[in-house]
Amino acid sequence: MNIILLGPPGAGKGTQAKRLEESRGLVQLSTGDMLRAEVQSGSPLGKEAKAVMEAGQLVSDELVIGIIANRIDQPDCKNGFILDGFPRTVAQAEALDAMLSDKGMQLHAVIEMEVDDAALTERITGRYTCAKCGQGYHDSFQKPATDGTCDKCGSTEFKRRADDNAETVTSRLAAYHDQTAPILPYYRDKGMLKKVDGMAEIDEVTRQIEGALG
Ligand code: ADP
Ligand code: ADP
Ligand code: ZN
Repeated sequence: MNIILLGPPGAGKGTQAKRLEESRGLVQLSTGDMLRAEVQSGSPLGKEAKAVMEAGQLVSDELVIGIIANRIDQPDCKNGFILDGFPRTVAQAEALDAMLSDKGMQLHAVIEMEVDDAALTERITGRYTCAKCGQGYHDSFQKPATDGTCDKCGSTEFKRRADDNAETVTSRLAAYHDQTAPILPYYRDKGMLKKVDGMAEIDEVTRQIEGALG
């Protein structure tokens, strides 16, 4: 099964994608994570993306489409994947359709996670992850069972994203409404769009997604 998790920054896409990886054996394809890895490695691609990401704008369609096209060719994607943060423009959605049909692959569902803008700033500014295993946390909404120790791997090192600050959030939300929200009707017209209440607590969102996927 190949699915898209669609929603604004901080909606909970990464959190739910990790859960679906475990429950369904799918692989999470996060263009944000891939781009951050490129920035970290200092590759030419990372150098091109860095300033754009820090400003809370979208990197070029060409660049992310290229990254996803390579990633989908990897053997681990054969058993199904969860797209997290891609597509983010109508051009990306169209490119995805073309690459999937080329490869004889299919999209099964597009899950829209609806969250009020007002809640997103707090979600994003309180977000952090385990530096070792990538498990996601939140200062108020998802704390480790033991303060300062990762539930999953026991690491005591955590990190925060450079773009997870109140100033950048404004541009990221604007980019979502201007460039990403227009892909909702694209999938609605194909009868693929399923909505879940992203304002609910994390376990409840998981239940709604599992219900939508059947
Ligand atoms: P996205 O990948 O959509 O940007 P994340 O999954 O990283 O969003 O979630 C953003 C932050 O909000 C994280 O710190 C996460 O722990 C927290 N979070 C995720 N889902 C919920 C929820 N349903 N209720 C409250 N906090 C949540
Ligand atoms: P969030 O879910 O919190 O918005 P992501 O990790 O998905 O964060 O994305 C972080 C940044 O990476 C975005 O603000 C944007 O600059 C860039 N990015 C990620 N995915 C895409 C994409 N599909 N198209 C263009 N830019 C992207
Ligand atoms: Zn960890």
